[in-house]
Amino acid sequence: MRFNALLLAIFVLSLWLGLTAHHAEKIRRLATQSDERGLVSADIEDSDLFFQDALRAKGPDRDNSQKIEALLKQMTLEEKVGQMTQLTMEMIVTGKDQNVTVDPAKLDKAIGRYGVGSILNVFDQALTPDKWYDIVGRIQDAAKKTRLRIPVIYGIDSIHGANYIRGATLFPQEIGMAATWNPELMKRGSEIAAMETRAAGIPWSFSPVLDIGRQPLWPRFYETFGEDPYLAKVMGVAFVRGLEGSDPSSPDHVAASLKHYMGYSLSLNGRDRTPALIPENYLREYVLPTFDAAVKAGARTVMVNSADINGTPGHINHHILKDILRDELGFNGFVVSDWEDIKKLVTVWRVAANEKEATRMAVMAGIDMSMVPLDYSFADHLIALAKEGAVPQARIDEAVRRILRVKFELGLFDNAMPNPALKSKIGLPESRQASLQAARESMTLLKNTGDLLPLSKERKILVTGPTADSLISLNNGWSYVWQGSEPSLYPDRPTIRRAIEAKAGAANVTYIPGTKITRREGSTSNNNPTNIEAEVDIEAAVRAAAADVVVLCLGEGSYCETPGNIPDLMLGEPQRKLARAIQATGKPVVLVLVEGRPRTLDGIADNAAAVLMAYNPGNEGGQAVADVLFGDFNPCGKLPFTYPRLPNALLTYDRKAFENEGFDNAGISPQFEFGDGLSYTTFNYKDLRLGAKTITRNDPLSVSVTVTNSGRRAGKEVVQLYVSDLVASLSPPRKRLKRFAKIYLAPGQSKTLTFRLGADDLSFIGADNKPVVEPGEFEVSIGGLKERFELK
Ligand code: BGC
Repeated sequence: MRFNALLLAIFVLSLWLGLTAHHAEKIRRLATQSDERGLVSADIEDSDLFFQDALRAKGPDRDNSQKIEALLKQMTLEEKVGQMTQLTMEMIVTGKDQNVTVDPAKLDKAIGRYGVGSILNVFDQALTPDKWYDIVGRIQDAAKKTRLRIPVIYGIDSIHGANYIRGATLFPQEIGMAATWNPELMKRGSEIAAMETRAAGIPWSFSPVLDIGRQPLWPRFYETFGEDPYLAKVMGVAFVRGLEGSDPSSPDHVAASLKHYMGYSLSLNGRDRTPALIPENYLREYVLPTFDAAVKAGARTVMVNSADINGTPGHINHHILKDILRDELGFNGFVVSDWEDIKKLVTVWRVAANEKEATRMAVMAGIDMSMVPLDYSFADHLIALAKEGAVPQARIDEAVRRILRVKFELGLFDNAMPNPALKSKIGLPESRQASLQAARESMTLLKNTGDLLPLSKERKILVTGPTADSLISLNNGWSYVWQGSEPSLYPDRPTIRRAIEAKAGAANVTYIPGTKITRREGSTSNNNPTNIEAEVDIEAAVRAAAADVVVLCLGEGSYCETPGNIPDLMLGEPQRKLARAIQATGKPVVLVLVEGRPRTLDGIADNAAAVLMAYNPGNEGGQAVADVLFGDFNPCGKLPFTYPRLPNALLTYDRKAFENEGFDNAGISPQFEFGDGLSYTTFNYKDLRLGAKTITRNDPLSVSVTVTNSGRRAGKEVVQLYVSDLVASLSPPRKRLKRFAKIYLAPGQSKTLTFRLGADDLSFIGADNKPVVEPGEFEVSIGGLKERFELK
């Protein structure tokens, strides 16, 4: 009897457990599906449609010319030059951090006497919104007391979310946003950045970075959308649209600044602010498209390349600033210099004998506003130059007109005062959710041997490596402070280690750092590598590798600009030593890379069973990594650059066909290719069809393909369309990205996508620096399928 009761109990229990497990699985599947679809549920079925829509959504230009001319007529030379001057906050405040306060005497000098038109800040001001209201409010109050009551335009670098503001939402850096291949998410992210920046009383952001990421050593690589001009231009336009909306005077938007116009990222030696050699056809093919598109999208301001191209510093490059930007692109906003760059024409570039001459050269080349920013030299020199007639009054009027126009468009003349009622918009839960979605969609699974991932939550896991427990690594620079290096400023968010513990249970997870990355004291102003690596407890990590699986988190600490210079792309020796020691145990290793540029891996990826590229995914990155590792989110990111295998084996995907031929075994072939990224499901491509086999340059060519989710999980796929020009007058790249789509497919679901290519998509910049479409044979490839057609 008792035995029967026991059997019955076991039967009921197992039935209940089975049902519960089934039920739980069903709920999990539902949750996962809705998560994968994400907040932004619309598929991007054609990147070109998104792009064209984003351009159209720019909104009408308001004509404020009468008001501007009326103001200009009343302005003295000194007042005009004041508008062209931008100072840093240090020039008007005393104290540090939350004790920073406006110094009335300094403020009076800046606004009252010099009539300074703009203020920015860079150093360690991670202020509360209330502090911002106080500072910006006092600045605008002072401006209201000036004769013509012209408001000040305050600007900050909201690079991956609102910066310098406590509690702001941080997103993946641009390189991670590029990996999402989801311009809707990019737009959403920059809408949130704009909303939070403006909510703090700041109407201008020095973003997006539109430099092309083709030099991975460059310490600002993570600020770029990667190596491809097409992907970067679609994402860049999305960024601008999110920042400016259709009306930048609304309380949710700010003016954008396209930077750094142009060629800054292509430094020959990979160090920040060093020379580039860029032939004009190459400049137009790879560097200009992002800026061209963002100007068309209506961006209000442009910031100039701090470095030089072909020997001419960006700040005196009349051809680039005037012939191309104004005459060709039709840009009608204003151009701001970068930090101290007019002075650097004397001290660094040595193209001017003194600052006064440098000021003349820069203003005459097209600089409208000078980020001086630590003294009044620019204003003093320019007033003198104008009085001597060395800078014509007309050139000054032109610059001031442009600056006033942006101030009108931002609504600053109506009300420049910060609005404390907007405080509640900073750090909203739904903004955090959008950041999580972006971080998840950026996760790029590059290797998954034997389906090691997703991990079961019951396994014993060793988490090790210097980026496993660091919000600083997840965010990198431009995070609350310039270098992103203040741990105390980050909100309470799980690191990778903590997010893994939350999923697998702390009892199943051992964390041993193995090595650490620390910052060199006082390194922000010199050229020494900022981050120093050191061993901590590699032996302890090896002992703990008795676990079932090792999650090895490698990569970088935080850095930006010149302090991020490194002599070599190779990952630091302490991390390589840790990896070798762990891999020698024979345990399966999941390599998670948290880094702002592709540090070469010295065989570590080859010996790892799985590789997940996380980039700098922002505050929600720890959660996003864990979601992918355990299969709560199906990865869909694709690499937006070519990952080199060795430091001197730098290639881009649009290389010439012969560049790595025959060298495949010598480490020349990339570690991972542009566009790579796996999923937990499989996608099958079929029926690649061209609308015609022969076309003329006036016929659009339709290209269709059917994509099926042939696996068992719902997921998103990035469909990539490449075009190859088989014979051309300039040796052609092996292929170029021309369209993409990001679609969601349930298991078994198919979708047929149709793209339309035009003559522009078949053109390249010829030897005469002009676009040319040459007749001949072309090949279209999507997902491994290829079709050829002929252009007559
Ligand atoms: C950077 C710019 C930035 C500016 C203001 C410069 O050093 O190059 O990207 O916008 O500082 O912070």
